[in-house]
Amino acid sequence: MEKLKIAIHYGADAVYLGGEQFGLRAMAGNFSSDEFPAALDLCHRHGVKAYLTVNSYPDDHQLGLLERYLQRMAPLPFDAYIVADPGVLRMVRRISPQRELHLSTQANTINRESALFWQDQGVSRINLAREMTLDGIRTTAKALTIPCEVFVHGALCIAYSGRCLLSSALTGRSANQGACTQPCRWRYSLQEESRPGVYLPIEEDHHGTFIFNSKDLCLLEQLPELISAGVGALKIEGRMKGVHYLAGVLRVYRTALDAYARDPLHYSTDPAWLEELATVSNRGYTTGFLFGDPRDVGQSYQAGYQRSHQLVGVVESVDPDNGTGLVAVRNRFRTGDLLELIGPAMKQLTFTAGELQLQHPDDDTLSATEVVHPNQRLIMPLPAAAAPDDLLRLPQTDCTLPPEVRPSHG
Ligand code: SF4
Repeated sequence: MEKLKIAIHYGADAVYLGGEQFGLRAMAGNFSSDEFPAALDLCHRHGVKAYLTVNSYPDDHQLGLLERYLQRMAPLPFDAYIVADPGVLRMVRRISPQRELHLSTQANTINRESALFWQDQGVSRINLAREMTLDGIRTTAKALTIPCEVFVHGALCIAYSGRCLLSSALTGRSANQGACTQPCRWRYSLQEESRPGVYLPIEEDHHGTFIFNSKDLCLLEQLPELISAGVGALKIEGRMKGVHYLAGVLRVYRTALDAYARDPLHYSTDPAWLEELATVSNRGYTTGFLFGDPRDVGQSYQAGYQRSHQLVGVVESVDPDNGTGLVAVRNRFRTGDLLELIGPAMKQLTFTAGELQLQHPDDDTLSATEVVHPNQRLIMPLPAAAAPDDLLRLPQTDCTLPPEVRPSHG
Protein backbone atom coordinates (compact mmCIF):
# COMPACT_ATOMS: atom_id res chain seq x y z
CA MET A 1 0.00 0.00 0.00
CA GLU A 2 2.86 2.35 0.76
CA LYS A 3 4.41 1.77 -2.66
CA LEU A 4 1.03 2.34 -4.27
CA LYS A 5 0.67 5.69 -2.51
CA ILE A 6 4.16 6.69 -3.63
CA ALA A 7 3.43 5.66 -7.24
CA ILE A 8 0.30 7.82 -7.24
CA HIS A 9 1.98 10.76 -5.50
CA TYR A 10 4.87 10.80 -7.98
CA GLY A 11 2.68 10.79 -11.08
CA ALA A 12 1.82 7.30 -12.35
CA ASP A 13 -1.30 7.23 -14.58
CA ALA A 14 -1.79 3.55 -13.92
CA VAL A 15 -0.36 0.87 -11.66
CA TYR A 16 -0.17 -2.89 -11.86
CA LEU A 17 -1.03 -4.68 -8.67
CA GLY A 18 -0.10 -8.21 -7.73
CA GLY A 19 -2.27 -10.53 -5.70
CA GLU A 20 -0.91 -13.30 -3.54
CA GLN A 21 -1.23 -15.73 -6.41
CA PHE A 22 -0.58 -15.89 -10.14
CA GLY A 23 1.28 -12.61 -10.57
CA LEU A 24 4.94 -12.62 -11.49
CA ARG A 25 6.36 -11.09 -8.33
CA ALA A 26 5.86 -13.85 -5.80
CA MET A 27 8.20 -12.24 -3.26
CA ALA A 28 7.12 -8.63 -3.71
CA GLY A 29 4.84 -8.16 -0.69
CA ASN A 30 1.68 -8.46 -2.75
CA PHE A 31 -1.86 -7.39 -1.87
CA SER A 32 -4.18 -9.81 -0.11
CA SER A 33 -7.74 -10.11 -1.42
CA ASP A 34 -8.94 -8.07 1.58
CA GLU A 35 -6.58 -5.20 0.73
CA PHE A 36 -7.60 -4.83 -2.91
CA PRO A 37 -10.82 -2.79 -2.36
CA ALA A 38 -8.95 -0.05 -0.46
CA ALA A 39 -6.12 -0.07 -3.04
CA LEU A 40 -8.57 0.19 -5.95
CA ASP A 41 -10.51 2.92 -4.19
CA LEU A 42 -7.31 4.91 -3.64
CA CYS A 43 -6.35 4.57 -7.32
CA HIS A 44 -9.74 5.54 -8.65
CA ARG A 45 -10.08 8.54 -6.31
CA HIS A 46 -6.87 9.85 -7.88
CA GLY A 47 -7.88 9.02 -11.46
CA VAL A 48 -5.27 6.27 -11.63
CA LYS A 49 -6.06 3.00 -13.39
CA ALA A 50 -5.37 -0.29 -11.62
CA TYR A 51 -4.45 -3.49 -13.41
CA LEU A 52 -4.31 -6.92 -11.80
CA THR A 53 -1.32 -9.06 -12.78
CA VAL A 54 -2.30 -12.63 -13.61
CA ASN A 55 0.70 -13.13 -15.86
CA SER A 56 2.34 -16.28 -14.55
CA TYR A 57 2.21 -19.59 -16.42
CA PRO A 58 0.20 -21.93 -14.20
CA ASP A 59 0.66 -25.70 -14.34
CA ASP A 60 -2.31 -27.92 -15.05
CA HIS A 61 -2.72 -28.78 -11.37
CA GLN A 62 -2.95 -25.05 -10.48
CA LEU A 63 -5.96 -24.43 -12.69
CA GLY A 64 -8.52 -25.12 -9.92
CA LEU A 65 -6.75 -22.64 -7.67
CA LEU A 66 -6.62 -20.11 -10.51
CA GLU A 67 -10.34 -20.50 -11.17
CA ARG A 68 -11.19 -19.84 -7.50
CA TYR A 69 -8.80 -16.86 -7.45
CA LEU A 70 -10.37 -15.33 -10.55
CA GLN A 71 -13.84 -15.84 -9.09
CA ARG A 72 -12.79 -13.98 -5.93
CA MET A 73 -11.34 -11.16 -8.04
CA ALA A 74 -14.33 -10.94 -10.42
CA PRO A 75 -16.43 -8.44 -8.39
CA LEU A 76 -13.49 -6.05 -7.90
CA PRO A 77 -13.35 -3.03 -10.22
CA PHE A 78 -9.93 -3.58 -11.80
CA ASP A 79 -9.53 -1.59 -15.01
CA ALA A 80 -7.86 -4.55 -16.71
CA TYR A 81 -6.06 -7.82 -16.05
CA ILE A 82 -2.55 -8.40 -17.35
CA VAL A 83 -2.24 -11.94 -18.70
CA ALA A 84 0.38 -13.90 -20.64
CA ASP A 85 -0.78 -17.52 -20.86
CA PRO A 86 -3.54 -18.26 -23.41
CA GLY A 87 -5.16 -20.64 -20.91
CA VAL A 88 -5.41 -17.87 -18.33
CA LEU A 89 -6.87 -15.55 -20.97
CA ARG A 90 -9.48 -18.18 -21.82
CA MET A 91 -10.41 -18.68 -18.19
CA VAL A 92 -10.74 -14.93 -17.54
CA ARG A 93 -13.03 -14.68 -20.58
CA ARG A 94 -15.28 -17.34 -19.03
CA ILE A 95 -15.32 -15.92 -15.49
CA SER A 96 -15.23 -12.16 -16.21
CA PRO A 97 -16.31 -11.83 -19.85
CA GLN A 98 -16.38 -8.03 -19.79
CA ARG A 99 -12.91 -7.64 -18.28
CA GLU A 100 -10.43 -5.69 -20.34
CA LEU A 101 -7.26 -7.70 -20.96
CA HIS A 102 -3.69 -6.51 -21.47
CA LEU A 103 -1.07 -8.86 -22.82
CA SER A 104 1.97 -9.11 -20.56
CA THR A 105 5.54 -8.75 -21.74
CA GLN A 106 5.86 -12.37 -20.57
CA ALA A 107 4.08 -13.40 -23.77
CA ASN A 108 7.25 -12.25 -25.56
CA THR A 109 5.59 -10.50 -28.48
CA ILE A 110 8.45 -9.65 -30.80
CA ASN A 111 6.82 -9.25 -34.22
CA ARG A 112 3.71 -7.71 -35.72
CA GLU A 113 2.15 -11.04 -36.72
CA SER A 114 2.22 -12.13 -33.06
CA ALA A 115 0.79 -8.78 -32.07
CA LEU A 116 -2.00 -9.13 -34.64
CA PHE A 117 -2.73 -12.64 -33.35
CA TRP A 118 -3.20 -11.30 -29.83
CA GLN A 119 -5.27 -8.39 -31.12
CA ASP A 120 -7.54 -10.98 -32.80
CA GLN A 121 -7.91 -12.66 -29.41
CA GLY A 122 -9.46 -9.47 -28.07
CA VAL A 123 -6.71 -8.04 -25.87
CA SER A 124 -6.94 -4.27 -25.66
CA ARG A 125 -3.26 -3.53 -25.11
CA ILE A 126 -0.01 -5.38 -25.82
CA ASN A 127 3.09 -4.90 -23.73
CA LEU A 128 5.77 -5.66 -26.30
CA ALA A 129 8.83 -7.73 -25.47
CA ARG A 130 11.79 -5.78 -24.16
CA GLU A 131 13.82 -7.41 -26.90
CA MET A 132 12.18 -5.41 -29.71
CA THR A 133 14.02 -2.73 -31.66
CA LEU A 134 12.64 0.75 -32.29
CA ASP A 135 11.95 -0.21 -35.94
CA GLY A 136 10.09 -3.33 -34.82
CA ILE A 137 8.05 -1.30 -32.33
CA ARG A 138 7.16 1.25 -35.03
CA THR A 139 6.10 -1.40 -37.54
CA THR A 140 4.06 -3.27 -34.95
CA ALA A 141 2.36 -0.18 -33.55
CA LYS A 142 1.39 0.82 -37.10
CA ALA A 143 -0.13 -2.59 -37.84
CA LEU A 144 -2.31 -2.60 -34.70
CA THR A 145 -5.57 -0.84 -33.97
CA ILE A 146 -4.99 -1.28 -30.21
CA PRO A 147 -2.26 0.54 -28.25
CA CYS A 148 1.05 -1.08 -27.54
CA GLU A 149 3.08 -0.47 -24.45
CA VAL A 150 6.81 -0.74 -23.85
CA PHE A 151 8.98 -1.03 -20.78
CA VAL A 152 11.15 2.07 -20.52
CA HIS A 153 12.91 1.52 -17.24
CA GLY A 154 14.01 -1.25 -14.92
CA ALA A 155 15.71 -4.60 -14.68
CA LEU A 156 16.42 -6.75 -17.73
CA CYS A 157 16.71 -10.51 -18.04
CA ILE A 158 19.46 -12.25 -19.97
CA ALA A 159 16.73 -14.53 -21.30
CA TYR A 160 13.51 -13.39 -23.00
CA SER A 161 11.87 -11.62 -20.07
CA GLY A 162 11.39 -14.24 -17.39
CA ARG A 163 11.50 -17.19 -19.83
CA CYS A 164 14.43 -18.63 -18.01
CA LEU A 165 15.13 -21.77 -16.01
CA LEU A 166 18.19 -20.58 -14.12
CA SER A 167 16.27 -19.85 -10.94
CA SER A 168 14.22 -23.06 -11.17
CA ALA A 169 17.34 -25.11 -11.77
CA LEU A 170 19.49 -23.58 -9.05
CA THR A 171 16.97 -22.81 -6.30
CA GLY A 172 13.71 -24.54 -7.24
CA ARG A 173 12.02 -21.14 -7.49
CA SER A 174 10.53 -20.64 -10.91
CA ALA A 175 10.76 -17.34 -12.77
CA ASN A 176 7.64 -18.33 -14.68
CA GLN A 177 5.74 -18.61 -11.41
CA GLY A 178 6.99 -15.21 -10.25
CA ALA A 179 9.62 -16.48 -7.81
CA CYS A 180 12.90 -15.68 -9.58
CA THR A 181 15.85 -15.36 -7.20
CA GLN A 182 17.88 -13.54 -9.90
CA PRO A 183 20.75 -16.04 -10.11
CA CYS A 184 21.81 -14.34 -13.35
CA ARG A 185 23.35 -11.71 -11.02
CA TRP A 186 25.35 -14.27 -9.02
CA ARG A 187 29.04 -14.95 -9.40
CA TYR A 188 30.09 -18.07 -11.27
CA SER A 189 33.25 -20.15 -11.39
CA LEU A 190 34.56 -22.93 -13.58
CA GLN A 191 34.85 -26.57 -12.57
CA GLU A 192 36.76 -29.20 -14.53
CA GLU A 193 34.70 -32.38 -14.89
CA SER A 194 37.12 -34.81 -13.22
CA ARG A 195 37.95 -32.50 -10.30
CA PRO A 196 34.71 -32.09 -8.34
CA GLY A 197 34.98 -29.44 -5.69
CA VAL A 198 37.93 -27.71 -7.32
CA TYR A 199 36.64 -24.31 -8.39
CA LEU A 200 38.54 -22.20 -10.85
CA PRO A 201 37.64 -18.55 -10.57
CA ILE A 202 36.67 -16.75 -13.75
CA GLU A 203 37.94 -13.23 -13.57
CA GLU A 204 37.10 -10.43 -15.93
CA ASP A 205 38.32 -7.98 -13.32
CA HIS A 206 38.95 -7.94 -9.58
CA HIS A 207 35.19 -8.30 -8.89
CA GLY A 208 34.95 -11.65 -10.70
CA THR A 209 32.80 -12.34 -13.74
CA PHE A 210 29.59 -10.91 -15.13
CA ILE A 211 28.62 -13.36 -17.84
CA PHE A 212 24.86 -13.02 -17.24
CA ASN A 213 24.79 -9.66 -15.51
CA SER A 214 22.63 -7.27 -17.53
CA LYS A 215 22.55 -3.54 -16.94
CA ASP A 216 19.15 -1.98 -16.29
CA LEU A 217 17.00 -0.53 -19.04
CA CYS A 218 16.67 3.26 -19.35
CA LEU A 219 14.92 4.78 -22.36
CA LEU A 220 14.50 8.28 -20.97
CA GLU A 221 16.40 9.86 -23.86
CA GLN A 222 14.31 7.97 -26.41
CA LEU A 223 10.85 9.15 -25.25
CA PRO A 224 10.24 11.33 -28.35
CA GLU A 225 11.16 8.44 -30.68
CA LEU A 226 8.91 6.04 -28.79
CA ILE A 227 6.01 8.47 -28.86
CA SER A 228 6.41 9.09 -32.60
CA ALA A 229 6.72 5.34 -33.16
CA GLY A 230 3.11 5.11 -31.92
CA VAL A 231 3.68 3.70 -28.44
CA GLY A 232 0.58 4.32 -26.33
CA ALA A 233 1.86 3.59 -22.82
CA LEU A 234 5.21 3.42 -21.05
CA LYS A 235 5.83 0.95 -18.28
CA ILE A 236 8.27 1.18 -15.40
CA GLU A 237 9.32 -1.98 -13.67
CA GLY A 238 9.14 -1.33 -9.97
CA ARG A 239 7.19 -3.69 -7.78
CA MET A 240 10.23 -5.43 -6.27
CA LYS A 241 11.87 -2.05 -5.72
CA GLY A 242 11.77 0.34 -2.76
CA VAL A 243 9.96 3.66 -2.45
CA HIS A 244 13.05 5.74 -3.23
CA TYR A 245 13.44 3.96 -6.57
CA LEU A 246 9.74 4.41 -7.35
CA ALA A 247 9.75 8.10 -6.45
CA GLY A 248 13.01 8.91 -8.25
CA VAL A 249 12.16 7.10 -11.47
CA LEU A 250 8.53 8.15 -11.63
CA ARG A 251 9.13 11.83 -11.05
CA VAL A 252 11.71 11.88 -13.84
CA TYR A 253 9.52 10.17 -16.44
CA ARG A 254 6.41 12.14 -15.36
CA THR A 255 8.30 15.43 -15.68
CA ALA A 256 9.79 14.44 -19.04
CA LEU A 257 6.43 13.36 -20.50
CA ASP A 258 4.71 16.51 -19.27
CA ALA A 259 7.49 18.66 -20.75
CA TYR A 260 7.17 16.85 -24.10
CA ALA A 261 3.38 17.24 -24.09
CA ARG A 262 3.70 20.98 -23.42
CA ASP A 263 6.21 21.70 -26.17
CA PRO A 264 7.34 18.75 -28.31
CA LEU A 265 9.29 20.94 -30.74
CA HIS A 266 11.65 22.35 -28.13
CA TYR A 267 11.83 19.25 -25.95
CA SER A 268 15.20 17.86 -24.91
CA THR A 269 16.38 15.60 -22.10
CA ASP A 270 17.39 17.60 -19.06
CA PRO A 271 20.75 16.24 -17.77
CA ALA A 272 19.35 16.64 -14.24
CA TRP A 273 16.83 13.90 -15.05
CA LEU A 274 19.62 11.44 -15.89
CA GLU A 275 21.47 12.46 -12.74
CA GLU A 276 18.33 11.77 -10.72
CA LEU A 277 18.11 8.27 -12.21
CA ALA A 278 21.65 7.63 -10.95
CA THR A 279 20.56 8.42 -7.38
CA VAL A 280 18.33 5.33 -7.18
CA SER A 281 19.42 1.72 -7.07
CA ASN A 282 20.62 0.57 -10.51
CA ARG A 283 23.16 -1.66 -12.23
CA GLY A 284 24.26 0.91 -14.76
CA TYR A 285 21.92 1.78 -17.61
CA THR A 286 21.53 0.57 -21.17
CA THR A 287 19.08 1.18 -23.99
CA GLY A 288 18.79 -2.61 -24.26
CA PHE A 289 17.66 -3.87 -27.67
CA LEU A 290 16.13 -0.61 -28.89
CA PHE A 291 18.93 -0.05 -31.42
CA GLY A 292 19.76 -3.72 -31.99
CA ASP A 293 21.94 -6.21 -30.18
CA PRO A 294 23.26 -4.50 -27.02
CA ARG A 295 26.43 -6.63 -27.18
CA ASP A 296 28.89 -6.21 -24.31
CA VAL A 297 27.83 -2.63 -23.52
CA GLY A 298 24.52 -3.99 -22.22
CA GLN A 299 26.44 -5.91 -19.59
CA SER A 300 27.21 -4.65 -16.10
CA TYR A 301 30.85 -5.05 -15.09
CA GLN A 302 30.21 -3.69 -11.61
CA ALA A 303 29.78 -6.13 -8.75
CA GLY A 304 26.25 -5.13 -7.79
CA TYR A 305 23.72 -2.34 -7.42
CA GLN A 306 24.87 1.24 -7.23
CA ARG A 307 23.12 4.39 -6.10
CA SER A 308 24.31 7.79 -4.97
CA HIS A 309 21.68 8.48 -2.30
CA GLN A 310 20.08 6.55 0.50
CA LEU A 311 16.46 6.95 1.60
CA VAL A 312 16.35 8.00 5.25
CA GLY A 313 12.73 8.99 5.80
CA VAL A 314 9.20 9.30 4.45
CA VAL A 315 7.21 12.43 5.33
CA GLU A 316 3.91 11.30 6.84
CA SER A 317 2.38 14.69 7.60
CA VAL A 318 3.38 18.34 7.88
CA ASP A 319 2.33 21.07 10.26
CA PRO A 320 2.45 24.35 8.31
CA ASP A 321 1.87 26.34 11.51
CA ASN A 322 5.25 25.51 12.99
CA GLY A 323 7.18 24.27 9.94
CA THR A 324 7.67 20.73 11.22
CA GLY A 325 6.72 17.33 9.88
CA LEU A 326 6.18 13.81 11.11
CA VAL A 327 8.74 11.52 9.48
CA ALA A 328 8.92 7.71 9.38
CA VAL A 329 12.62 6.83 9.58
CA ARG A 330 14.00 4.30 7.09
CA ASN A 331 17.71 4.65 7.69
CA ARG A 332 19.89 6.20 10.35
CA PHE A 333 20.61 9.92 10.24
CA ARG A 334 21.52 12.56 12.77
CA THR A 335 21.26 16.24 13.59
CA GLY A 336 23.54 18.24 11.29
CA ASP A 337 23.31 15.82 8.33
CA LEU A 338 22.80 17.52 4.98
CA LEU A 339 19.52 15.99 3.73
CA GLU A 340 17.59 16.30 0.49
CA LEU A 341 13.82 16.59 0.45
CA ILE A 342 12.37 15.30 -2.82
CA GLY A 343 8.84 15.39 -4.20
CA PRO A 344 6.90 15.22 -7.45
CA ALA A 345 7.77 17.47 -10.42
CA MET A 346 11.47 17.34 -9.51
CA LYS A 347 10.94 19.23 -6.25
CA GLN A 348 14.29 19.04 -4.51
CA LEU A 349 15.55 21.03 -1.52
CA THR A 350 18.75 20.58 0.46
CA PHE A 351 18.62 21.38 4.16
CA THR A 352 20.44 20.57 7.37
CA ALA A 353 18.65 18.27 9.79
CA GLY A 354 17.82 20.40 12.83
CA GLU A 355 16.27 19.45 16.14
CA LEU A 356 15.06 15.83 16.11
CA GLN A 357 12.16 14.92 18.43
CA LEU A 358 11.64 11.20 18.73
CA GLN A 359 8.00 10.15 19.00
CA HIS A 360 7.54 7.29 21.45
CA PRO A 361 5.33 4.55 20.02
CA ASP A 362 3.40 3.87 23.25
CA ASP A 363 2.14 7.33 24.12
CA ASP A 364 3.29 9.66 21.29
CA THR A 365 5.33 11.73 23.76
CA LEU A 366 8.42 13.44 22.34
CA SER A 367 12.02 13.42 23.48
CA ALA A 368 15.01 15.18 21.93
CA THR A 369 17.61 13.00 20.22
CA GLU A 370 20.72 13.44 18.08
CA VAL A 371 20.41 10.24 16.06
CA VAL A 372 17.41 8.35 14.69
CA HIS A 373 17.18 4.74 13.51
CA PRO A 374 14.99 2.69 11.12
CA ASN A 375 11.36 2.17 12.16
CA GLN A 376 11.34 5.16 14.51
CA ARG A 377 9.11 8.19 13.94
CA LEU A 378 10.08 11.73 14.69
CA ILE A 379 9.03 15.34 14.45
CA MET A 380 11.61 17.60 12.78
CA PRO A 381 11.75 20.99 11.03
CA LEU A 382 11.21 20.62 7.26
CA PRO A 383 11.47 23.05 4.34
CA ALA A 384 8.24 24.99 3.79
CA ALA A 385 7.53 23.15 0.53
CA ALA A 386 7.41 19.72 2.25
CA ALA A 387 4.26 17.63 1.70
CA PRO A 388 3.08 14.18 2.81
CA ASP A 389 4.74 11.33 0.84
CA ASP A 390 7.79 13.46 0.05
CA LEU A 391 11.03 11.62 0.83
CA LEU A 392 14.19 12.52 2.73
CA ARG A 393 17.47 11.14 1.46
CA LEU A 394 21.13 11.39 2.30
CA PRO A 395 23.90 11.60 -0.32
CA GLN A 396 26.25 8.66 0.14
CA THR A 397 29.80 9.75 0.64
CA ASP A 398 31.23 6.29 -0.15
CA CYS A 399 29.33 6.01 -3.44
CA THR A 400 31.17 5.43 -6.68
CA LEU A 401 28.87 6.74 -9.36
CA PRO A 402 29.00 4.98 -12.71
CA PRO A 403 31.62 6.62 -14.93
CA GLU A 404 28.84 7.60 -17.34
CA VAL A 405 25.36 8.48 -16.20
CA ARG A 406 24.09 8.16 -19.79
CA PRO A 407 22.75 4.75 -20.79
CA SER A 408 24.98 2.71 -23.10
CA HIS A 409 23.76 2.02 -26.63
CA GLY A 410 24.06 -1.32 -28.37
S1 SF4 B 1 17.48 -15.51 -13.44
FE1 SF4 B 1 17.84 -13.50 -14.35
S2 SF4 B 1 17.42 -13.81 -16.54
FE2 SF4 B 1 16.50 -15.53 -15.46
S3 SF4 B 1 14.35 -14.88 -15.10
FE3 SF4 B 1 15.54 -14.34 -13.28
S4 SF4 B 1 16.15 -12.17 -13.62
FE4 SF4 B 1 15.53 -13.05 -15.61
